[in-house]
Amino acid sequence: MSVDQALIRKITSEILAKMQNRTVSACQDCNGIFTTVDEAVAAARIAYQELRTLSLEKREELIKAMRNVALENATMLAEMAVKESGMGRVEDKIIKHKLVAVKTPGTEDLRTEAWSGDSGLTLVEMGPYGVIGAITPTTNPVATIICNGIGMIAAGNAVFFSPHPTAKNTSIKTITLLNEAIVKAGGPMNLLTSVADPSISAANAMMKHAGINLLVATGGPGVVKAVLSSGKKAIGAGAGNPPVIVDETADIEKAARDIIAGCSFDNNLPCIAEKEVIAVGCIADRLISNMQKYGAYLISGSKIDQMLDVVMTATEEKMAEGCTAKPIKRYGINKDFVGKDAKYILTQIGLDVPDTIKVILCETPADHPFVIEELMMPILPVVQVKDIDAAIELAVKVEHGNRHTAMMHSKNVDNMTRFAKAIETTIFVKNAPSYAGIGVGGEGFCTFTIAGPTGEGLTTARSFTRQRRCVLVDSFSII
Ligand code: NAD
Repeated sequence: MSVDQALIRKITSEILAKMQNRTVSACQDCNGIFTTVDEAVAAARIAYQELRTLSLEKREELIKAMRNVALENATMLAEMAVKESGMGRVEDKIIKHKLVAVKTPGTEDLRTEAWSGDSGLTLVEMGPYGVIGAITPTTNPVATIICNGIGMIAAGNAVFFSPHPTAKNTSIKTITLLNEAIVKAGGPMNLLTSVADPSISAANAMMKHAGINLLVATGGPGVVKAVLSSGKKAIGAGAGNPPVIVDETADIEKAARDIIAGCSFDNNLPCIAEKEVIAVGCIADRLISNMQKYGAYLISGSKIDQMLDVVMTATEEKMAEGCTAKPIKRYGINKDFVGKDAKYILTQIGLDVPDTIKVILCETPADHPFVIEELMMPILPVVQVKDIDAAIELAVKVEHGNRHTAMMHSKNVDNMTRFAKAIETTIFVKNAPSYAGIGVGGEGFCTFTIAGPTGEGLTTARSFTRQRRCVLVDSFSII
């Protein structure tokens, strides 16, 4: 950047700050992190206006700097995330961080459409929203911030992040590292902002804030509902409970290896990870013994009940007065075990296994809580069914209409097509671990915000843009 350009940008920034009754020096020390939501959003608005004065080429330079700093700090942030949240595996989080740094699309994702003819030229361009309020999960705190940060800035926006409180230090560290890289590359201060003490009440204040133009929530059903009820435009990336079907035509050994690899990745934290196996009867035993070969430990009988008592909490729902039916037990997950190692979980039921054990396997009926609930633990129930019709019917049922992710191992194209059509998920992976669906060993870009409920699908820069039409009448058509 030439000195003149730097000077112009500094002056623009000072003028914008003064217009909003803020001092630039206050922002300089903040590095994106403020005490109040008001301060953070005001700083992000200034950064947004400044970003608008930069070229697309410059925007891409900022993104390159973000990618580099994410790669340089991938290991440190993975260690920090596991330590702070108590969830996941360092080696897998390193893979996630490198993946988003490299495979999250930048400005090349933006497309202009044009119509030309007798009346001239019409363009539809992808413009920014302004300041985006992004809510991020504890399960992928770093990967989501890097991925959202790159995509949202590539689209020309600034961001206010509302991270999960249980990963607040790691999230804040990620935001400040990215901001430092942006400023070093000649970009605005505070393009990515947050508050020093993130909380649900700060997230709610952000949702109501007049300075926030778009909400993007990556999390469970509660937060998706909250943003969709906010009255603002919202993108919701919600929960999944991905089933994997294995039919009799599959390469059983490969299916077993792939399922264990996908299910155990980051101790099953990814929303796309295999959460229950539905095996067509005749191959089920062979599949289970092959999964044991690839790092699964099979539990049965009373050990399954013991495990249920440890990793889930039961509440009894009373039936209406006068009703003779028994109360129904409802199960929720015990958050203390989310993202924990299989070995650690097994010690809770008195089993000591080698470090090589990555997944706890158990055969269960179709309505077992391990099948019905999204556990986010390396516990994999296997349900045997008699044929492919029963397998598809059950998989659709236990996916609960999330329309998130499903996998299938099969060589029968008709079976795969039938299942994909029936389940209508945003991601459908055939004959590979679930993570192939986000670009690990599969073609295509990566994202950690998969917006099933609101339909954007695997979000990229273009998901964070507004369409704007520019019409030039009677000119610029040269045909
Ligand atoms: P969570 O829903 O507990 O929290 C997600 C974020 O929302 C956090 O920042 C939290 O502070 C905030 N939040 C939660 N409830 C809120 C409310 N009522 N109002 C305002 N903010 C609220 O989820 P988590 O445990 O952090 O993450 C795991 C969940 O997220 C799983 O259900 C998983 O499937 C889902 N997930 C989905 C995707 C996707 O791309 N679809 C990606 C990652 C995680």
